[in-house]
Amino acid sequence: MKILFIILFLLACSENNEVILSPEQKQIENVQISTEPGPFTFNINVFYEVGAEPYAGTVNLGKNNTWDITKASMISLFQHIDGRKVTVPYELSEMKQISPQSKSTWTTNELVEVAEKIKTPMLQEFEIQTYVIYLKGTFNGNPEIIGLHLTGENYVFIFKDVIESVGGSPLQQKYVEQSTVVHELGHLVGLVNNGIKPVSNHEDQANPHHTIHKDCVMYHAVEKPGRILSILAAIIGRQELNLFGDEVISDISNH
Ligand SMILES: [Zn+2]
Repeated sequence: MKILFIILFLLACSENNEVILSPEQKQIENVQISTEPGPFTFNINVFYEVGAEPYAGTVNLGKNNTWDITKASMISLFQHIDGRKVTVPYELSEMKQISPQSKSTWTTNELVEVAEKIKTPMLQEFEIQTYVIYLKGTFNGNPEIIGLHLTGENYVFIFKDVIESVGGSPLQQKYVEQSTVVHELGHLVGLVNNGIKPVSNHEDQANPHHTIHKDCVMYHAVEKPGRILSILAAIIGRQELNLFGDEVISDISNH
């Protein structure tokens, strides 16, 4: 009886002492995990709603897979972190399907509900887990929001209908989608004053957490469906794999 009482007391205690972090505190924790040196693999797990299938297949005249764009970008970003590896899925069979959600718009709470069923803690047994979740429909009915990261969370959302609304050739579509994935992962790991202080003064004051440099994927117009294709024109022309600019790479290295 006494033991049971002690156990119950301990349980109650641990419940009361549970630390609930604010989104900003969670974001700081995520930045620490992302930038910590060591043999941490940065895993990018992809989930998609039926009908919002991510692009896969080849780019760069068959030399690379579409997802090499995200992989090469994250490897470039973490190039000064010893032992860091990055994994991405290459084909749909390596991504996980979510049943049709039949929603044309999403609220923040509804998005969180979907993500909470999918995600694990960000750091698990020396591995970093991040999630890219593809959905149909729009965020709050806004056809201008192509992707989204909620502060402090280890997942990002990609709105496939908005990606498709940009139009363009199959190659351009792949780049629009991959750029959105890389941009949102950039927010997740804390780039441009979202946890990581810029070394040089390159934050766009009119668009916080974005860079002033147009050749970097963290430029704000990369998130604008009406402007993304013209911003990416040179990168698509050269079929570049790394989308991050030198400034944000240097910010991570000096964090
Ligand atoms: Zn952004």
